[in-house]
Amino acid sequence: MRINLLGAPVDCLTMEQAEERVAELVRSGGPRRIITLNPEFLYRAVREDHTLMELVDRADLVTADGEGIVWGGRVAGTPFPERVTGIDLMLRLVKRAAAEGWRVFLLGAAPGVAEEAAENMVKRFPGLQVVGTQHGYFKPHEEAGIVETIKQRAPQLLFVALGAPAQEKWIDRHIESIGDVVAIGVGGSFDVISGRVARAPLWMQKLKIEWLGRLISEPSRWRRMLVLPKFALLVLRTYRLGYKN
Ligand code: UDP
Repeated sequence: MRINLLGAPVDCLTMEQAEERVAELVRSGGPRRIITLNPEFLYRAVREDHTLMELVDRADLVTADGEGIVWGGRVAGTPFPERVTGIDLMLRLVKRAAAEGWRVFLLGAAPGVAEEAAENMVKRFPGLQVVGTQHGYFKPHEEAGIVETIKQRAPQLLFVALGAPAQEKWIDRHIESIGDVVAIGVGGSFDVISGRVARAPLWMQKLKIEWLGRLISEPSRWRRMLVLPKFALLVLRTYRLGYKN
């Protein structure tokens, strides 16, 4: 089932169901796009850049990433069962990939990070086939070569960590020419899996204040977080006061 949140279709799935959906997408083949939707992305899509909403519309799977989206679902009267974040979904998919023999490609993050993330994942999930890595600080003229490399390595799963919304735009631009692949934007996940950036402690995650942990460890994020109250206001105006956006 899909829930309409501020005009965006978001899949109403548990983490386990989301993993199953991805497995179906891998089995059915073809270019497939996955977006883990957070409040910042949705706010921009509604208020600032409608092309982002088109990306969401085109996605084969849109998960409720971020407490803000889960809260928005509750306010809209259509609650999501749980949060499905990019990093958690990625770790589940990588484990599944090792078991199913799916080939995986990692694109994004600073030079060296994707390789370190790949090494850690292979240690954790023996048998995992990482068929390639590429850092995310390439020049525009290098893109065609990167797309060609990914195509030749023929991954079933392509994780793209360029930050939102650059990664979703990149996927949208190139997925048709890559072909038979399921691509998912995963933000800063390679930084965490490589061990270069620590995730907020579990107690913070449970108290639903992971965002606060990130703010403390990366204070430069505060500017981005200013969008959260705006998002909350937009949700309340739409669903409590009945404004049209
Ligand atoms: N990044 C990249 N190329 C760029 C800009 C960013 O590969 O030109 C990477 C960056 O190194 C980091 C990720 O994209 O690993 C963005 O992480 P962030 O946590 O900011 O993701 P977001 O929360 O914006 O999705």
